This record gives sequence, structure tokens and C-alpha cells, in this order.
Amino acid sequence: MKVQEYDNDRSTYFCYCPGCQEYHSLHTGRPNADGIRLEYNNSPEFPSFRPVPIGRIINSGLNRSKHANDPNWKCVFTIKFGKISFSNDSSHNLAGTTVDLPDLMPEF
Ligand SMILES: [Zn+2]
Repeated sequence: MKVQEYDNDRSTYFCYCPGCQEYHSLHTGRPNADGIRLEYNNSPEFPSFRPVPIGRIINSGLNRSKHANDPNWKCVFTIKFGKISFSNDSSHNLAGTTVDLPDLMPEF
């Protein structure tokens, strides 16, 4: 399983970002703080999250996380069929690449 729903919010999912090495939230219900809502294909093994409005991309910069104290940290990505693609201007060393979205840890 590569994505999972938060127990307390049935429209928000999370995945593990191999670039940031932390979890990112994926909002399928109401739009996130960046004004983006995601359409999920309901496939935990080969997830796709299509941004609405179409053409927008997912920017994790608004997540409160281990990088929250670094205002310049940027992670911009798309998720299609179980793979995560990062924009060239993401801050980590996977910028510009597409890799398999990792399976979530067993404790989840
Ligand atoms: Zn990330």
C-alpha cells in the first residue's frame, strides 16, 4: 500500500515522499491551503492523484513538517499509477526525476 487515509479525516490521504523523507498529505475533499483538490483513483497500490483545477501541481511546501522551519524548502510533484514525479525546482536530490512511490511502513 502506497497511500493511506487518515483515520480522523476520510478525505485526506498521506504518502511517504522519498525526496523529503517524510509524509505528505493529499487532500481529496476540500481544497488545501494552496487551493488544490485532488481526485484519487482509489487504488492504494497504483495510486493516481489528479489535481483540480487540472494543470495545477501538488506543492508540499505548505505542509507542517520537518521542513516547515525552512521557508525555502520546496517539493512539487505529481503522482500517477504509483509513481511520483518531482519538478526540477524541488529542493531535494530527486528533483526532476520519477521514482516508485514507496510502500508505507508496516506500522501504518
Ligand atoms: Zn516531498
